[in-house]
Amino acid sequence: MKAKRSLGQNFLVDQSVVDRIVSAAGVRAGETVVEIGPGRGALTAGLRALADQYICIEKDDALAAQLDRQFADDDRSWVVNGDALEMMPDALPVPGPYRVVANLPYNVGGRITMHLLENWSGDVSAATLMFQREVANRLAAVHGTKAYGALSVLVQSMAEVWPLFGVPPGAFRPVPKVQSRVVRLQPRPEPLWAGLDYERFRAVVHGGFQSRRKTLMNSLINATGLTNDVDAIRAAVQEAGLDGGVRPDNIPVAGWIALTRSLP
Ligand code: SAM
Repeated sequence: MKAKRSLGQNFLVDQSVVDRIVSAAGVRAGETVVEIGPGRGALTAGLRALADQYICIEKDDALAAQLDRQFADDDRSWVVNGDALEMMPDALPVPGPYRVVANLPYNVGGRITMHLLENWSGDVSAATLMFQREVANRLAAVHGTKAYGALSVLVQSMAEVWPLFGVPPGAFRPVPKVQSRVVRLQPRPEPLWAGLDYERFRAVVHGGFQSRRKTLMNSLINATGLTNDVDAIRAAVQEAGLDGGVRPDNIPVAGWIALTRSLP
């Protein structure tokens, strides 16, 4: 079967990398693992051997059918044929918490991560995920660096992010043009924005990051879905302890939360 580019199919073929990811996932006895995009099963055997129960979500119908046949005599492994971007935990055959593991398709890695944190939060005990290196760097970036942006702020507000190790293109077939990196996400017991409306927090972060070259004040004045009243924004920025002339990439996560709290 030919790899489908549209589904980001770059299959792991280096057993030492497979072993490293399975070991980094830290699966413990009694746990349920959810693997997103099992593909041809590179990580699957190792994960099934460690987990009490194993569920995978695969969008490719043919690959899902193949795994389903493989699991025919196993009543602790399930294939869910569907799109991880839309999948909710209540559609899975056993309840959480889940230890999530994935070699994510490059094109939707960031979006799948956001979906997990926004919609699965209490059901994910930890996630060990492989991304394109640039996306991994954005997830882990601290303020004041080039990689820091809205994705960094939103993800870090809900999870601790631990970059683990890099994986070279030669570990995959077909060989991708990009480098990869494995990251561990540890969802926080409570998001840093607890007590605030998440949709508003997201609107403030996206509004503030509309243009990295603009100052915070200018970005907020033009942001959609927020007040455009200049005096009210100026007062809120001051109340949040921020300088209106600062660029968005110099504002730490706590600053975005303070700003969401103070904006009318
Ligand atoms: N885990 C395998 C490995 O490491 O060799 C395959 C990884 S490959 C990078 C990504 C896998 O995710 C493919 O099997 C692809 O079909 C699947 N996939 C792509 N988009 C998906 C989605 N939205 N939901 C679920 N699976 C998806």
